[in-house]
Amino acid sequence: MSKQCRACAGKCCTYFCFQIDEPDSYAEFENVRWYLCHEGVSAHIDDGDWFLAVANRCRNLTRDGRCKIYENRPLICREYSHESCDHTSGDYEYEKLFETPEQMERYARKTLGARKFDAARKRALERHEKRAQKARKRTRKPAD
Ligand code: SF4
Ligand code: SF4
Repeated sequence: MSKQCRACAGKCCTYFCFQIDEPDSYAEFENVRWYLCHEGVSAHIDDGDWFLAVANRCRNLTRDGRCKIYENRPLICREYSHESCDHTSGDYEYEKLFETPEQMERYARKTLGARKFDAARKRALERHEKRAQKARKRTRKPAD
């Protein structure tokens, strides 16, 4: 195990991260806000690209930061090197980091503009209420 890996105790094995499409509408921002309602989930922007990170320790990581299946570790782990990892290259400093749904809502409001954001939210809530009313009517209908 490298000196750097020993020092950071396997940070790269305590989460996984994947790219998502950049949200550009109220509904898409709402999806990201929903992701952030879940514990351990964060979103970040790095070089203009959007990512979702899920803090979830790999089941193969030992308490002392070693890999239990080192000889048979997945390809993605083999290709990740401490020589260029996010920890050693100091690349955990993102353009933007969102850790709570409130942060995402504020960002969405600012990005879309308050007026557009509020109007889209109003339309979405009205659509939802109409669908809910229809569903309530259907369930009240007597059986044939
Ligand atoms: S590859 Fe990087 S993040 Fe992973 S354990 Fe080594 S130093 Fe830490
Ligand atoms: S399989 Fe091993 S190297 Fe890969 S994330 Fe898990 S503990 Fe880390």
